[in-house]
Amino acid sequence: MSYYIDPHIHMVSRTTDDYKRMALAGCVFVSEPAFWAGFDRSGPEGFRDYFRQLTEYEAKRARAYGIGHGTWLCINAKEAEDVSLSREVIKMIPEFLDQPGVIGIGEIGLNKNTRNESIVFIDHLDLAARTNELILVHTPHLADKYQGTRMILDMIRGDGRIKPERVCIDHVEEHTIRPALDAGHWVGMTLYPITKCTPARAADLIEQYGTDRIMVNSAGDWGHSDPLAVPEFIFEMKSRGHSDALIRKVVFDNPLEFFRQSGRFTWNPTVSG
Ligand SMILES: [Zn+2]
Repeated sequence: MSYYIDPHIHMVSRTTDDYKRMALAGCVFVSEPAFWAGFDRSGPEGFRDYFRQLTEYEAKRARAYGIGHGTWLCINAKEAEDVSLSREVIKMIPEFLDQPGVIGIGEIGLNKNTRNESIVFIDHLDLAARTNELILVHTPHLADKYQGTRMILDMIRGDGRIKPERVCIDHVEEHTIRPALDAGHWVGMTLYPITKCTPARAADLIEQYGTDRIMVNSAGDWGHSDPLAVPEFIFEMKSRGHSDALIRKVVFDNPLEFFRQSGRFTWNPTVSG
């Protein structure tokens, strides 16, 4: 069995059946960024409840299936259009930063590449810099992706306090992976059944760019997505004849190395990958 980590999945919106199927497929750890609930929350207290769910309750649900759980906190780009709400939420985040499962700030980013989203993105960067947190970045989908990724990379570069290797640029595709890697960041490839990368496209990109600073994830949520996307990628890589060690670097060693930069990350695998 190949053990793996899913570094980006929204387990609050998945069932216990999914946890069980993931455990059977070799999942030993998940990292869960804060995201949009599918509807706009009515105020900052809605985020407080969500942060409690992420930091206190979801880890217990994961543990019941032998899966470790880490989390990231932020207000997502979809709700960041409301700058004053966002600032109230950002002010609340430090209350949760000493919780053991918190890996960093994320998934922050852009959705429609608006001015307000950029203001809130920069505020999050400032919080991460002041509190020395890792950063997980959502890049916009489809047509907005290239421009949004350029804007994001510029804003990160503009904050001289942030070390590039402490940032993961997620949902990269063929046209955005190179600028993110060239800037010194980690990258995540999201394996989706319809949009984003398929397992075959992700395998092509690994063959082109190698395995350094690259992870793959399912970004499973309440929408059309596949919580077993990482095992699908493993299957694709094996069928192309790639070695177990190379595959393990992408699905296990790399996320561990990235997370271990967080001083709070204490999870230790009981398996060797
Ligand atoms: Zn996500």
